[in-house]
Amino acid sequence: MPENGFSAEKFFGDGGGLTYSDFILLPGHIGFPTNEVDLETNLTRNLRIKRPLVSSPMDTVTESKMAIYLALLGGIGIIHYNNTIEEQAREVRLVKRFENGFITDPVTLSPENTISDVDKIKKTYGFSGIPITEDGTLKTKLTGIVTRRDIDFEIDRTKKLREVMVTSLVTANAGIPLAEGNKILKESKKGKLPLVDKNGRLVSLMSRTDLLKNEDFPFASKNKEKQLLVGATVSTRDEDRERLKELVDAGVDIVVIDASQGDSIYQHKMIEYLKKNYPNIEVIGGNVVTAKQCKSLIDKGVDALRIGMGSGSICITQDAMAVGRAQGSAVYHCAKFAREYAGIPVIADGGIANIGYIVKALSLGASTVMLGAMLAGTNEAPGDYYYEGGVRLKKYRGMASLEAMDKGGDKRYYAEDNKVKIVQGVSGTVVDKGSVVHFGEYIIKSLLHAMQNLGYKTIKELHNGIYDGSLAFEARSPSAQGEGSVHDLHSYTSPDAALFYPHDRKRG
Ligand code: GDP
Ligand code: 5GP
Repeated sequence: MPENGFSAEKFFGDGGGLTYSDFILLPGHIGFPTNEVDLETNLTRNLRIKRPLVSSPMDTVTESKMAIYLALLGGIGIIHYNNTIEEQAREVRLVKRFENGFITDPVTLSPENTISDVDKIKKTYGFSGIPITEDGTLKTKLTGIVTRRDIDFEIDRTKKLREVMVTSLVTANAGIPLAEGNKILKESKKGKLPLVDKNGRLVSLMSRTDLLKNEDFPFASKNKEKQLLVGATVSTRDEDRERLKELVDAGVDIVVIDASQGDSIYQHKMIEYLKKNYPNIEVIGGNVVTAKQCKSLIDKGVDALRIGMGSGSICITQDAMAVGRAQGSAVYHCAKFAREYAGIPVIADGGIANIGYIVKALSLGASTVMLGAMLAGTNEAPGDYYYEGGVRLKKYRGMASLEAMDKGGDKRYYAEDNKVKIVQGVSGTVVDKGSVVHFGEYIIKSLLHAMQNLGYKTIKELHNGIYDGSLAFEARSPSAQGEGSVHDLHSYTSPDAALFYPHDRKRG
């Protein structure tokens, strides 16, 4: 009945490509507080995460830092492959080895190094609190520590650290819980707390400046061994079998086979290879936008599907190729098919421009969303900030932009070795968003409120609402879309999450 909106089936059943801004969701009944909303969801057939957020495998979005902090929040990061095999495997290892609050690979020096060596570290990495071990490497006996205060006013920078280091140290046993380490750090009033094993060998380091960041992350995505979960991409090329092996050795949990048109014999072969050789790794196939494509990859054994072709913010595929699909229709039809045919989840990838679109993607049947542009401006995305016209920006580029392809990113688009490169993406910039820890929490809080407004406590209930017709959709005319955004003001301030955390963001 139109007075209460339309079911998803009716809304998307009449052909025509629709996307997020074309519709609005009608409110349900609020019968519970937001703390009763549970956003746990299936990332793949066998893997569940607490929050439906995935970061895109792009070289301006996801390396270890993004993957670590998104996993701590309950989402997951997918490490890009526009790098060497060693570099990608290293990023995966950094995530797997991460221990919240503990620096597990601190930079160390030996008593025979000089003050100028500390200066070099300060210049390269920005810190100068250096534990000194017998031979300057980790896992040897801790003999002292050098901090800024010990060397600030020393004129002779060739002096050995042996002469300036502090040797009466406050240390703690490696293996103590984070809360205990925090307590010792607070009480000792020292800047650093080295953690040592029973033979006095240095294992890790805690830093006072991190105390504020050392929050508990009760929703973190972890495996049984308490390591953070992480994914990584490979292409469909045979030579990426070697990449795959290194990623698995590094401890990767999920492999995403990256292709802009996923329904190919190349991807079939890669799925078969993965399933035969690494049966414990969850495989995400894609990208696909039709039920026929979904069937093709599901039949080969994928554990989840990545949906989207030409909807990304940096993407020009639909203009360049005339192939793709409106993202709303793609997500709705693929999610429905994958659920009915095999009970596997789909990821809505590309075109998520605001938090409302995340809610809409989940309301079309996606179990998770993959974010590129939305996360590219956070501190944890690769790359440095710079100022343009007083605005603090970061670079964000498509993996099939000329710039990224020059670095090897064209594997996804079957273009390598071709003399003429077919460009399917652009390079641009995005605005500083502060730390993903705060921005991510803001997104999550907003999702809890959205679920409450719709009247569903879980993503499972929301999905049931799509197929039993209780979730109500209504079309938005262009003027309704205008009305639904800010209008008729001379100027306004965007309610950007980073504004709530001004210390995260530096203004020009
Ligand atoms: P410092 O006092 O000059 O060492 O610098 P701060 O303590 O103010 O900042 C150091 C920041 O760098 C903290 O957030 C650390 O977690 C981080 N960090 C990462 N790796 C290392 C490392 O190997 N050594 C030190 N000292 N800090 C590190
Ligand atoms: P966004 O979140 O920025 O709207 O979209 C990110 C998604 O766009 C990625 O996850 C990926 O699927 C897609 N993508 C990334 N780079 C390119 C590109 O150069 N061309 C195309 N067609 N899609 C891209």
